[in-house]
Amino acid sequence: MMSDDRKWAREAIRIIEADFQRSADTHLIPLELPGLPGIELYFKDESSHPTGSLKHRLARSLFLYALCNGWLKPGAPVVEASSGSTAISEAYFARLLGLQFIAVMPATTSQEKIAQIAFYGGKSHLVQDPTQIYAESERLAREGGGHFMDQFTYAERATDWRANNNIAESIFQQLRFERHPEPSWLVSSPGTGGTTATLGRYVRYRQHSTRVLCADAERSVFFDYYQTGDASLRLECGSRIEGIGRPRVEASFLPKVIDAMVKVPDALSLAAMHYLAQRLGRRVGGSSGTNLVGALLVAREMVAAGESGSIVAILCDGGERYATTYYDPAWLSAQGYDLTGLIDSIAGCAERGEALPEGLLRAGI
Ligand SMILES: *Cc1c(COP(=O)(O)O)cnc(C)c1O
Repeated sequence: MMSDDRKWAREAIRIIEADFQRSADTHLIPLELPGLPGIELYFKDESSHPTGSLKHRLARSLFLYALCNGWLKPGAPVVEASSGSTAISEAYFARLLGLQFIAVMPATTSQEKIAQIAFYGGKSHLVQDPTQIYAESERLAREGGGHFMDQFTYAERATDWRANNNIAESIFQQLRFERHPEPSWLVSSPGTGGTTATLGRYVRYRQHSTRVLCADAERSVFFDYYQTGDASLRLECGSRIEGIGRPRVEASFLPKVIDAMVKVPDALSLAAMHYLAQRLGRRVGGSSGTNLVGALLVAREMVAAGESGSIVAILCDGGERYATTYYDPAWLSAQGYDLTGLIDSIAGCAERGEALPEGLLRAGI
C-alpha cells in the first residue's frame, strides 16, 4: 500500500505536469542590429510564462524536485527567500497544490511584486537587512513545520539540464531553421545562477561550440568571484537591478560552466532596458537590459574579428512590474540616474556599430 503522503505527492505532481501540458513554449524574438552586420540577435522571451518571468521554469522545477524528494506535505507551508520574481512564481504553484506560501524578501521589494504574490494567495514577510532573508526563511520554516525551498542552493540542480524542454534545449530547437542555428553566444544574467548553469551544461553536454556570457549587475559579488574564486566575498547593499546581482556568492552559481563574464553598470543596464522597450514596443525588466549590453559587447567583438553568427540573450521579465520604478522619470531622477545619453549610446552601438560607453568590466572576452 502506498502511504498517504506518497499518494498526495503523486497527485501534486500530476497537477504540475497537467499545468505544464496546458502551457506553450516562450517565443524567440529577433532584434535587428543595423550597425552590426552579419550578427543575428534574438531574445528568448521569458515574460510570456503564466507568472511573467523566467522564474516560472525555476519554480516548477523546485516544486517537482521537492515533491520527488518527499520534502512537501499537505498542510505544511512552503517558505522562500526571494527578491520577488521567484516568490511570485512559487506562490502560483503553491496555490495550485493548495499549500500555504510565505515569501521572505528585502523591504525594498516593489509593491507590484508584493501585490502579485498576494494575488496568488501568498504572504510576504519583509526584512530590513537583505542579507537576513536566508536565516529568516529557515526560522519560519522550522517554526511553522514547513519547507524552505532555498532557490539559491537548489536552482542549479532542480532543473533538468540535459533536456526536457529546458530553456537551452528550447532555444536550440527554435533556432533550427535560422541562418546560424548554432549560436555563437548565449547571454544570461545571474540571480541564482541557475539559468546560466543550465545553458552552460547543456552546450557542453550537446558538444556545441556555443559560449555562455554571464552579465552581472553593479552591486553583486559574482563577477569578482568569477575572477578571484573568493567565495567569502560580501556586500552590504542589495542589487538595484531586480532579479540579478547578489550580496554573497550563492551555491547555485557555477563559475566553471561560464565562458566569459561582464559587469555592467546599473545605469547602462537601465538605458539598454529603455532602448529595448522602445525597439520591441513594450516594457521589459532591468536584467533584460543587462543582457542586451552583454550581447552588444560580444556582437561588436564578432564584427571586429570579421565573424558572423547568432547570439541569444534572455528577456527575463516584462516591465509592468517596474512601472513605478525604472519606468518612472521621477523615480529615476530621485535615484540620481540620467539615462538620456546612455540610451543614445546603446542605440549608437546597435544601429551604427559604435563602441559602448566606458565602464564595462570583462573577463574572458
Ligand atoms: C532570477 C532572475 C534572473 C536571473 O536568473 P537566474 O536563473 O536566477 O540566475 C534574471 N532576471 C530576473 C528578472 C530574475 O527574476
